[in-house]
Amino acid sequence: MENAKVKLSASAARKRPARVAGTLYTKQEIHEIFRRFCVQRPEPKGELEHVNAFTLLVAVVLSAQATDAGVNKATRGLFAVADTPEKMLALGEEKVGDYIRTIGLWRNKAKNVIALSEALIRDHGSIVPGDRDALVKLPGVGRKTANVVLNMAFGQPTMAVDTHILRIGNRIGLAPGKTPDQVEKTLLRVVPQEYLLHAHHWLILHGRYVCKARKPECDKCVIADLCKAAVKTSDIPAPLVPLAA
Ligand code: SF4
Repeated sequence: MENAKVKLSASAARKRPARVAGTLYTKQEIHEIFRRFCVQRPEPKGELEHVNAFTLLVAVVLSAQATDAGVNKATRGLFAVADTPEKMLALGEEKVGDYIRTIGLWRNKAKNVIALSEALIRDHGSIVPGDRDALVKLPGVGRKTANVVLNMAFGQPTMAVDTHILRIGNRIGLAPGKTPDQVEKTLLRVVPQEYLLHAHHWLILHGRYVCKARKPECDKCVIADLCKAAVKTSDIPAPLVPLAA
């Protein structure tokens, strides 16, 4: 009888769908998570205001260690007078600085905005390049910025890992990793292809409005029944890093 029980539970375990390597979830669960994000926000939009690929690039460069709302406040005036690399260069570092003074690290960012405008005119015919290698050579542009621009301006299925995605990946065990690069690599591997284009926006918006750093609002969460965070409550300290399997 005991033996029969052991055999039964062994065969039940064999039938249980396996977790996707490096995550706490099965393939079906990951699919369901992104299906629900898709139903919730079929066309997610980034919140950085811009009028073309150049102003998007500038806005993303300015958004490092700053909020989108803070950047938008500063760029409304700036982009009204400078929406091309030529106009930005003509405006000059000091005047750019005047517009973005409310944003953290504004001096350095003003310098980068002018330098990247120069580089775009000199090396790319004033056009924002649609490939990562060229983008990351521009002053002030790192991998995350390049990924955002490639996704939003060029429709590429990139994964720009910011603080929200890094936290969610670890907290819920979807993509545990110490660095943005590790989390990016796992997400690119595990997010179903059909959801990859919008996945980074869904995760960012989920982190910004629901799965918040200090107080995740699990009672409002569309994936609460699937989520494998170590603790789920509306009042938990961050970051929570569940044990990887
Ligand atoms: S249930 Fe809570 S911890 Fe899990 S994803 Fe939702 S908000 Fe985050």
